[in-house]
Amino acid sequence: MSEVAQETQPEFWRPPSPMVGEEVVLRAAIQTMAEACPRCGTEFLFGSRFCHTCGGRRSEVLDATAKADVAVVAGLWELAVARVHSAITGIPWSKIWSKIKFPAWLRYLHFHEIKRWVGLSTASLIAFVIGVACVAGALLVGLLTAKTFVDWQAIQFYRAEWLLAATASFVAGILLKKPSSRDSE
Ligand SMILES: [Zn+2]
Repeated sequence: MSEVAQETQPEFWRPPSPMVGEEVVLRAAIQTMAEACPRCGTEFLFGSRFCHTCGGRRSEVLDATAKADVAVVAGLWELAVARVHSAITGIPWSKIWSKIKFPAWLRYLHFHEIKRWVGLSTASLIAFVIGVACVAGALLVGLLTAKTFVDWQAIQFYRAEWLLAATASFVAGILLKKPSSRDSE
């Protein structure tokens, strides 16, 4: 107990140097700020951080080098976007699609085929698929390895959330099932 008191003793007599440093930084920041308000055009008072007429915030002035850098980056970005766009539009997609031959069994994966096969309405089938995806998510969470107890706990929460989402989706599927299809059975 006495050791702690002795260690904390010099803390009280530390010079207020951090305060001085902050002051210098603040002054430097104000010097790089805009001279006039961008909203109403009033000149800012010395050292002010807000406009005294409209209350607008005093924004920082970008110096010439920063502006040039921004322009260069913007130019490069536009060039890259244009290149990618021309590359994508240059590819003859229709020719590629006509050349690819899908195997015959792939038609069983078509949505209406599955719908006919399972015998569910569209909304129910969508809910069912979402539910299956959530169950898959809950199983994939099991691939995560936990090193600490907190990690393990977090993984259990993830799994519980995935399973809850799956349950909600399946319940929605049941509710969305058309009563007419049930009557006809
Ligand atoms: Zn103003």
